[in-house]
Amino acid sequence: GQYGNSPPVYPSPHTNGIGWEAALDKAKAFVAQLTPQEKDDMVTGTPGPCVGNIVPIPRLGFNGLCLQDGPLAIRVADYASVFPAGVSTAATFDRKLMYRRGVDMGAEFRGKGSQIALTPVAGPLGRSAYAGRNWEGFSPDPYLTGVAMEESIMGIQSNGVQATAKHWVGNEQETQRNPTYNSTTDQIIQESLSANIDDRTMHELYMWPFANAVKAGVASFMCSYQRLNGSYACENSKANNGLLKGELGFQGYVMSDWGGTHSGVSSIEGGLDMDMPGGLGIYGLEFGNNSYFGGNVSTAVANGTIPVSRVDDMVIRIMTPYYFLGQDNDFPLVDPSSGDLNTFSPRNTWFRDFNLNGTRSRDVRDNHAALIREMGAAATVLLKNVNNTLPLNAPKSIGIFGNDAADIPTGPYNQQNYEYGTLVAGGGSGTGRLTYIVTPLDAMKAQAAKDGAIIQYYLNNTLIADTNWATTNGGLTIPTTPEVCLVFLKTWAEEAADRTTLDSDWMGNEVVDSVAAWCPNTVVVMHSSGINNLPWASHPNVTAILSAHFPGQESGNSLVDVLYGAVNPSAKLPYTIALDKDDYNGLPITAVNSNDPNAWQAYFTEKLEIDYRYFDAQNMSVLYEFGYGLSYTTFSLADISISKADPTSSIAAMPTAADTVPGGKAELWDIIYNVTATLTNTGSVAGAQVPQLYVSFPDTAPAGTPPKQLRGFEKVYLEPGESQTVSFGVMRRDLSYWDIVSQEWVIPTGFFGFSVGFSSRDMKVNGEAAVVG
Ligand code: BGC
Repeated sequence: GQYGNSPPVYPSPHTNGIGWEAALDKAKAFVAQLTPQEKDDMVTGTPGPCVGNIVPIPRLGFNGLCLQDGPLAIRVADYASVFPAGVSTAATFDRKLMYRRGVDMGAEFRGKGSQIALTPVAGPLGRSAYAGRNWEGFSPDPYLTGVAMEESIMGIQSNGVQATAKHWVGNEQETQRNPTYNSTTDQIIQESLSANIDDRTMHELYMWPFANAVKAGVASFMCSYQRLNGSYACENSKANNGLLKGELGFQGYVMSDWGGTHSGVSSIEGGLDMDMPGGLGIYGLEFGNNSYFGGNVSTAVANGTIPVSRVDDMVIRIMTPYYFLGQDNDFPLVDPSSGDLNTFSPRNTWFRDFNLNGTRSRDVRDNHAALIREMGAAATVLLKNVNNTLPLNAPKSIGIFGNDAADIPTGPYNQQNYEYGTLVAGGGSGTGRLTYIVTPLDAMKAQAAKDGAIIQYYLNNTLIADTNWATTNGGLTIPTTPEVCLVFLKTWAEEAADRTTLDSDWMGNEVVDSVAAWCPNTVVVMHSSGINNLPWASHPNVTAILSAHFPGQESGNSLVDVLYGAVNPSAKLPYTIALDKDDYNGLPITAVNSNDPNAWQAYFTEKLEIDYRYFDAQNMSVLYEFGYGLSYTTFSLADISISKADPTSSIAAMPTAADTVPGGKAELWDIIYNVTATLTNTGSVAGAQVPQLYVSFPDTAPAGTPPKQLRGFEKVYLEPGESQTVSFGVMRRDLSYWDIVSQEWVIPTGFFGFSVGFSSRDMKVNGEAAVVG
């Protein structure tokens, strides 16, 4: 059936190094010199200075591999930057910024001697608003996430650092992502959650952005913790051999998530190339030198269980991107401070030698704070702005409220779920080790000093939420009512836990109500991990709402740039905020009422209907839709044109290319249609807008096709009165559905609708075209 067990796909395809031919030859020459035990080492992690380590082979001049988290920073490092999180990056809807963030992050990994960055994230995609790690990734829209994956990977790899697309695939909740173990026997009592995903949904949603990653030439993939259609993702031959190495033509290597390997031979046959962190057990370190891989790999080759060609392919897949990115040439040694900071495998757990002769505590931050500040502002979504409340016009009296406004009392370093302290990132392996934070209060004080303004602030949410506090105007003295009251809300999220509520933390809703009860100009600023309930959004005293998500270390500066109009907001919501907190679907499974070891099953029965695809298909009103975000100026769109990229040739329903290139059949990536429209800044200030192209498939597409899907976006900056033609190249993949019978992408006959607008529910120009037939 459609949710049955994954079909077996064997053997694991060997790489042929498409696009990486010269590097492939070097990798083959490298593996030819290895002893069986050295091959074991090459495919098995071991405790060491980095979060994942492959030991050096000094006789071959190989310094080993240092794998480091993560998605918004090189986490285990001193003197490194904390960039905006994935959700903020997505909210910029700006390809260039996505790329530049990758470039700067790549420079920091390189500077610290880490060849392999464990980022970017397309799983979770964001099926559920509650999933604990959505903020590490980008958006529940696969097209937007696909672009962000591609730009991030190209940016990181432009600095000679390997990017890792993770977590492949179906990692849509945290609860029961790993099995439950008996703590004394270490036997599995309950298996991890099984994400049960049908073939079409896999292709059109969850696999889609990973295809962009392969297309961009990503070096590695990290398979996820949970099971997929009944078998562990890291030994799922359909996912790794079939979809990834077969259909998508992935040429690099698959590493396990940390402790995600649950077998030796089955995993190797199922397509896993590298076991991380290498040992047995959840965190990999409990059993010293024992591993599903390690010495068992050479034993399995020696007794004929695994062909040596498969093990060679594992090593070749690992070393081809290494040579392709020039990592054999002058790659910096691991910064010794990383080893000191590494709590995951502290020094007393190491039993192998590492080359730690590099300079200690290198400062890799360079001028990256400038990009972080720019991106933080470009990622701040303006959701509400009545009476032109914003930008602020040098108010002389400012109130600041909420425990998210100021510094962490014992910070900065790692972000935690502290009561006091502004959030610029979430928690777990996706966080960053901060060297400083510019808090909103810091930046507002600096601005107030320029304007000669008074700032009064209350940081205690318990106090503010008390209704007595509200009846005395918050006890503020002179002047009793500030010209503007800024309320700061935060929403924590972290790895290994799903959110239990979509409300802001620390009574955030009550804090807004309490301030808005007496302050007629209440501006709410949110530092949230993602989707939040905003029950106060239509309160008449809430005059403006800004969603800054997790903006990184320059948080306060980015915010003040937007609040005071130095930057005109242009970010867009990368997800939908529903009207009611109970309107969301795809809820995580939080408990099972059974001791059955297989009890944890998540059926993705909503299929393609996640986020706006769901609200559209169900005809539901929402509070703020996907793609929505205001500006300080106004824009118009006109003159849509829709045309075949090559007017002389007819377009076949299915791609015919025999060759698979990284990313799948090459023709899927051909631009077959062009859509253009004219954007004009009709207001009085300069600013950027994001025209978005949505495509509606003809009725001949199979049931379940979403009413509309994002298939293009472009961020365009215009002076007042200026116009520009915006063009969207529409690829074959963009106009195809995955046909489960022919196992092929198919363009349906009939008329497609093409609409360009300013959000998923604000179309400005529309047209149609029959693409085939
Ligand atoms: C996370 C990965 C991370 C790894 C190493 C795992 O628990 O799921 O995303 O890269 O740990 O820290």
